[in-house]
Amino acid sequence: MRRFQGDRLLVATHNAGKLEEIAALLAPYGVAVTGAADAGLPEPAETGTSFVENARIKAHAAAQATGLPALSDDSGIEVEALGGAPGVYTADWAETPSGRDFVLAMTRTWDALEAVSAPEPRRARFCCTLVLAWPDGHDEVFAGVMPGRIVWPMRGDQGHGYDPIFQPDGHDMTFGEMDRWQKNQISHRADAFRKLVAGCFA
Ligand code: IMP
Repeated sequence: MRRFQGDRLLVATHNAGKLEEIAALLAPYGVAVTGAADAGLPEPAETGTSFVENARIKAHAAAQATGLPALSDDSGIEVEALGGAPGVYTADWAETPSGRDFVLAMTRTWDALEAVSAPEPRRARFCCTLVLAWPDGHDEVFAGVMPGRIVWPMRGDQGHGYDPIFQPDGHDMTFGEMDRWQKNQISHRADAFRKLVAGCFA
């Protein structure tokens, strides 16, 4: 396992929310972060068929372009009775001509489960893959998961994406009903970050 040395990390995301979250998580280790937009990087096409492939595409493109170690995050939800869909296409299920609509994406997910008469509980898991890539081509990969079930109707107005239809195992609330602090203790992203910090930063 290669450890991160240095004081600056490129975070290969154009999402300001993700950048802020990652900056806060790494601040205790004396690491300053720069986002892909601030570095003037284009958004590479996510042509992979797995979270790790897409995360590798983003991290290596950013490391090559800037000469800095780069961290990327790729995430989504896998629904068991749908053969793992939407999976890497989680964000795509929300696409409309006028932008992303996650109520539509959640409705699509529920309709697909109804169409196959999926038995209850409708098992699903959120996945997060982090890739830390260096300009010499080396990388380290960390995967986090949070298992749970899909519920209907949607519950809660916190969080983002598919949070209102996902009830994590061991909890009565959906991610959409949890406050940010509570979700960030148990989420797939927290799981992956714990592994990243233990492996490369602590
Ligand atoms: P990407 O990783 O930016 O390619 O997008 C992954 C997609 O997965 C996001 O657009 C969200 O819809 C969804 N997603 C990932 N993590 C979460 C989460 O914690 N809650 C709800 N949706 C999520």
